[in-house]
Amino acid sequence: MDEKKVREAIEAVKCFPEWNKDDRWMDPQIMEDLVDTIIEALEKQLPKKVEMRTVYNDFDGCLICYKGFCPSCGGAVESYGNKSCHNCTQMLDWSE
Ligand SMILES: [Zn+2]
Repeated sequence: MDEKKVREAIEAVKCFPEWNKDDRWMDPQIMEDLVDTIIEALEKQLPKKVEMRTVYNDFDGCLICYKGFCPSCGGAVESYGNKSCHNCTQMLDWSE
């Protein structure tokens, strides 16, 4: 997903409760919960830096993979084939 579009969508969603104030097309509490859920899901599309990233090389010094911990849920993650956390779907940034 396009990072810029995701950021724009997050900003747009944040305005929903404000619009709802006048028109009341939804219960304000339900609206707030909904907006929180949408923002949480969208933010997982934005790559976050992996915590405690460790580099694994083979005997020739070639990169095998990176391992570390998901910045959102704390679960163990590895770069081998996965760009997102298999546990919480957080997109991962493996750069230094
Ligand atoms: Zn996770």
